[in-house]
Amino acid sequence: MIDFSRHLEDLSQRGLLRELQTVEAARGRKIGLAPSELISFSSNDYLGLSQHPELREAAIKAIEKYGVGAGASRLLGGGYSPHRELEELLAAFKGAEAALSFSSGFAAALGTLPALVGPNDVIIIDKLSHACLIDAAKLSRAHLRVYPHNHLGKLESHLEWARENHPAATILIVTEAVFSMDGDTAPLKQIVELKRRFGAALMLDEAHSTGVVGEHGRGLAHLAGVANDVDVRMGTLSKAVGASGGFIVGSHELIEFLVNRARSFIFSTAPAPAVAAAAAAAIRILMSDAGESLRQTLWERVHEFANQLPGRFRIREDGSPESAIFALHIGDERRATQASSFLRRRGFWMPAVRYPTVALKSARLRAAVTAAHEPEQIRQAGAALQALAERMGEVMGEPDGR
Ligand SMILES: *Cc1c(COP(=O)(O)O)cnc(C)c1O
Repeated sequence: MIDFSRHLEDLSQRGLLRELQTVEAARGRKIGLAPSELISFSSNDYLGLSQHPELREAAIKAIEKYGVGAGASRLLGGGYSPHRELEELLAAFKGAEAALSFSSGFAAALGTLPALVGPNDVIIIDKLSHACLIDAAKLSRAHLRVYPHNHLGKLESHLEWARENHPAATILIVTEAVFSMDGDTAPLKQIVELKRRFGAALMLDEAHSTGVVGEHGRGLAHLAGVANDVDVRMGTLSKAVGASGGFIVGSHELIEFLVNRARSFIFSTAPAPAVAAAAAAAIRILMSDAGESLRQTLWERVHEFANQLPGRFRIREDGSPESAIFALHIGDERRATQASSFLRRRGFWMPAVRYPTVALKSARLRAAVTAAHEPEQIRQAGAALQALAERMGEVMGEPDGR
């Protein structure tokens, strides 16, 4: 038998043990997290849409009309009108020909990458890409080349290698738009230039940029003016969209191909119609003036938070944030956990992100700012972080580098 207790003890010794938390209730950015109520900076619900009355109403209405579960896969009778409506809206929102929804972003990646490329092809992927992209790349059995985060030179040399050694292969570049753990963005214009030069394709994960970046939150590809140059755009409905599920947008042919080839789409029960209905309501909001104004509130809060950050935690030189995600680097895993507890005692939920989510010794507090934060909560969090920075030595030894 597997010695679970030894593995768990080992994780605990290395400061890497993870434990489930149960949220009792959500009100604004306050979450009931036993034993007390905390102000959460860990939600990816960037616009607060998960609590929006129009999403609730859309979900309730759909439950009344369709029941709860879809009962079958999309191809075998589990596709309801909310699924179709959601996909039409997604395509319009992203300015693409067509869209396909999946039960999660993870499932979208796992189904799509192995459909696009196989053992004779090449995937070139940014090192900091999300686990679902890495796993999907491995599942595809394509030749895998990893380039250091946002390193265009290395990306170029991998492309040269691929063209030389696999002249007939499909070469697929894979990257996130806004990186989930660092909050920085990919240099999309340059990546698109490279992909053109080498006749490669590009798949872009817009999980943390959808709803956040670009006009109406259409994403980083739109902001960079290259939306039509990205062959496969992926995203999740579980973050700024406030519901649950994942999606791919692209050409009609791509979507039709995925309907026939993406195994996580074909062999999985369709998402609950009510969840698709809620996501559709969210996309409608994003496309409206109300959505744009929520997004502007988000960016006001993001800048307020950036201005409150103690020097120790400012990482970008010009200090100007590219997303709603802040990586407050600590380094050591146990120190990061202690820093998180320090903030928790002061009423803030800012969990430590540790290996294997990020590299060993690059543990950090990940703070996500949302439109649902009140300015006062941002100020209080800034003061708590200031206290943390000042007491860093006392609380957890000397800071170590970054
Ligand atoms: C969260 C996330 C996903 C997965 O989306 P889910 O809908 O939560 O499964 C994919 N990629 C990135 C970059 C993410 O942060």
